[in-house]
Amino acid sequence: MRGKSWNRIVVDARACTENYRFLQSLAGSVPVLAMVKADAYGHGMVYTARAFAEGGCRHFGVAELSEGVALRASGVAGQIIVSIGFAAEEASLFFDYALTPVICTPVHAAALEREAAKRDTTIDVHLKINTGMGRLGLLPEEVKDFAEAVEQYPHLRIAGAMSHFPEADTPGAASTLAALDRFQPLRQWLRQRYNAVCHIANSAALFNHPEAYCDMVRAGIALYGYHPAGEAGREMSGFADRLVPAMRFSSRILQVKEYPQGTTISYGCTFVTPKKMKIAVIPVGYEDGLDRLRSNGGVVLVGGKRVPICGRICMNMSMLDVSELSAVAVGDEVVLLGRQQDEMISADEIAAETGTISYEVLCRFGHMNNHFSE
Ligand SMILES: *Cc1c(COP(=O)(O)O)cnc(C)c1O
Repeated sequence: MRGKSWNRIVVDARACTENYRFLQSLAGSVPVLAMVKADAYGHGMVYTARAFAEGGCRHFGVAELSEGVALRASGVAGQIIVSIGFAAEEASLFFDYALTPVICTPVHAAALEREAAKRDTTIDVHLKINTGMGRLGLLPEEVKDFAEAVEQYPHLRIAGAMSHFPEADTPGAASTLAALDRFQPLRQWLRQRYNAVCHIANSAALFNHPEAYCDMVRAGIALYGYHPAGEAGREMSGFADRLVPAMRFSSRILQVKEYPQGTTISYGCTFVTPKKMKIAVIPVGYEDGLDRLRSNGGVVLVGGKRVPICGRICMNMSMLDVSELSAVAVGDEVVLLGRQQDEMISADEIAAETGTISYEVLCRFGHMNNHFSE
């Protein structure tokens, strides 16, 4: 490829496969569905879905219909569950691409019934139940009426039902127990009446709440090598090194220069060299997902050492204080996320700096860099 960027996201497919195998070993005989929404949390949806399939994964979850279409079109086999709503006039895509819709409104049920009848076929649907997340879904007391209404449609089959925990990353949280108390009786009814596959557990519940595995577990963040409760959660989990972070983000040094004391660095002149300093420039800025809040605060790796970002992070460039490094040259590798020699910067570390969670750090790096390499 000509004009290649120095900024590269590399996703370790083997780490993805091994993370999947590990999570499946925790879940035992309950299948683990891989959540690959949001371009697999920035890791590349098709690429990682193949890695999970390699580990035995046969169930995938996406948020939007367009994601499901792209995943199926890539040739991925198995079940693909589309968990958020869709425009009724696009119902035909669920049939064309063999996708499983999750529904909680009469409009969606009717649209799918119409399309199925037209094609003289049937379609499996999952119901979405709100047990405390306060997002999409039927209230527990609405489930039976809705299910019985769907039953009236000869071309729809209730094959499953899902819910989602708001707080499973806090072990023993009252909201988790309350959600399970609401879900379990419905599950019993849905299983008895429709033999429905019921699922509520995310990565956090996979680690903290075995009683919530039900008939399937939906794992997301842990597949990409992170614990839902961050670094502290990883340490407490007892399997710190079984989750292998899959994403690495690297770049290269564009320029190295020595500046005298009193030189201002970057927009706003927020950094002034307190002494003679060696400053490196990298072609990474906030457009690449390097959060501008990390100006004069973040660190990156050069030559296996942590070096500070100095001055404001620009749109496409940032400056590093490399005064402590004896040998540093144009073209040297810089690591913004992941390992370099004995040092490592994790998405949890970055998230702690900017007051967010690893999920967002990974999505942003992934989405803002289309320079993937395998
Ligand atoms: C994203 C998502 C998951 C996965 O959550 P993790 O915390 O990443 O394991 C599970 N279920 C639903 C409905 C989701 O949207």
